[in-house]
Amino acid sequence: MSSPVRQRPVPDAATAFHWAAAAEGRLEVQRCSACGTWQYPPSVGCPACIDGAIEPVAVSGRGTVYSFTVVRQAFDPGFVDHLPYVVALVALEEEPAIRLLTNLVEVEPDAIDVDMAVEVVFEPLGDTALPQFRPVTRRGEH
Ligand SMILES: [Zn+2]
Repeated sequence: MSSPVRQRPVPDAATAFHWAAAAEGRLEVQRCSACGTWQYPPSVGCPACIDGAIEPVAVSGRGTVYSFTVVRQAFDPGFVDHLPYVVALVALEEEPAIRLLTNLVEVEPDAIDVDMAVEVVFEPLGDTALPQFRPVTRRGEH
């Protein structure tokens, strides 16, 4: 029997820019060129104004843990080999109201705190890569 397969992102018209950037190691969300409102998850229009042209924008990949949970039971067979893993909401440095649903990696679950400083890392997955986050230890070192 083959090992379980982890599901891969399926880019569509709204999300293609995000996955293309991730494949190249950049974290991109969206911002409205008319009113400046940030948007994530990707959308086809500004959530705050009718006329705004929402556009991809690269962010630093730095943020803080807003909330998290430790998953110890796999409900999808593709995650069995990843247990336990951490699902988190990470607030972006550029706009803390933008929170990415992601995984925290390179950290023991017991060492995670809300407001912990984290930075993006990319896990290759198929034709793209998954933005995930790890703790910032010391500036420029890991
Ligand atoms: Zn707008």
